[in-house]
Amino acid sequence: MVVTRNDDYNGAQQIGASLLQFTIKNNQRHSTAAAFLKPAMKRKNLTVRTQCQVKSILIENGRAVGVEVMVGQTGSERINCSKEVILSAGAIQSPQLLMLSGIGDPIELGKQGINIIHALPGVGKNLQDHVWTGVSVNSIIPTSNALLSPLNMGKALLQHLLFKKGPLGNSPLEANAFYSSIGEDRPDIQFHFAPIGIADDYSTDMYNLKTFPRKSGFGIMAILLHPESRGVIRLKNSNPKDAPIIDHQVLAHSKDRELLLVALKKAIAIAKTKAMSAYADGDLSLPKNYEDDQSLQVHINKSLETLYHPVGTCKMGTDQGAVVDHELKVHGIRSLRVVDASIMPTIVSGNTNAATIMIAEKAADMIQQQS
Ligand SMILES: Cc1cc2nc3c(=O)[nH]c(=O)nc-3n(C[C@H](O)[C@H](O)[C@H](O)COP(=O)(O)OP(=O)(O)OC[C@H]3O[C@@H](n4cnc5c(N)ncnc54)[C@H](O)[C@@H]3O)c2cc1C
Repeated sequence: MVVTRNDDYNGAQQIGASLLQFTIKNNQRHSTAAAFLKPAMKRKNLTVRTQCQVKSILIENGRAVGVEVMVGQTGSERINCSKEVILSAGAIQSPQLLMLSGIGDPIELGKQGINIIHALPGVGKNLQDHVWTGVSVNSIIPTSNALLSPLNMGKALLQHLLFKKGPLGNSPLEANAFYSSIGEDRPDIQFHFAPIGIADDYSTDMYNLKTFPRKSGFGIMAILLHPESRGVIRLKNSNPKDAPIIDHQVLAHSKDRELLLVALKKAIAIAKTKAMSAYADGDLSLPKNYEDDQSLQVHINKSLETLYHPVGTCKMGTDQGAVVDHELKVHGIRSLRVVDASIMPTIVSGNTNAATIMIAEKAADMIQQQS
């Protein structure tokens, strides 16, 4: 199946290959804080408190009336609210905060000795994320691996600071393809193309540059866009300082393992095309054994990662597992909305940041219309 060129995968059609689109301004990734919050900081009706962790949402007579935040090691402060509490702690911590506030599955809350304010069994359930494996190839031309020497890193930093130019303004991922394994308009697989190679012994940690080899290379990530597996966020205990338990249940569903294998084989085929192999220094460095499915499954087990796109744990809907309604209001509680990636009932077919910004924009419109 051929993947054709498609310059705007955020346009009318998603399937196809192109360079990646980014939220980059002045050679620097532009966050929502910089884009939306910073310009509003002068407003008299806005107070932003940083280093301020919410312990729980205060509920009185079925209505959210404020939040309790931590002060120092043991203290706390109550912040009252006359209109609405908007919970945007992300797909891991929004369900944690709801559960700490007594909103969740009565069985889970009971285990932690938390008083049940409102039973909503879906809180923390339905966790989804994009998962991926990949291939890596040594290259005959210098790639981002060559930038990792102290001299080149120093050069890149100076270029960035002095001229707002250079490699630090790029993402480690440059190109992208959306693909349907069954020839449909909706993709089920995504490929990321990275101008950087990883170690051939699985010792590279994607978030630690020191673990990348100096030998230049490139790679293709094969990503499952719609995993069938569903994970769960649970409380470890009732202490808000403790992180919750994240149980992804990655590849628990057999269909996910089958499709990831299809995606990996396609990535290998792409890496071995004439266009790509023209830059290869030898055969694939990872996976080394790729002729049989069993070896590829071993590679999947060793290389599997999530794409850090957790969603779904306070899902929007009307069924038993739904946490918020179509206006993102928490079922059964007044004046409380959840506005973040946790409300997605199913994960979107692509990276989640832009979709989460869209959720927030839509919520802002709904909140304005109401007040
Ligand atoms: C390492 C990494 C790389 C990523 N790369 C990309 C990418 O390239 N492209 C892309 O599209 N997406 C990417 N994502 C995903 C993207 O960042 C998320 O989809 C998006 O940020 C989700 O937004 P959110 O508002 O739901 O949650 P978040 O952005 O996580 O915001 C939640 C906020 O709530 C705060 N918070 C949590 N608990 C509390 C509490 N108790 N009290 C006070 N504050 C609290 C957190 O500090 C955080 O600031 C990446 C994610 C990670 C982790």
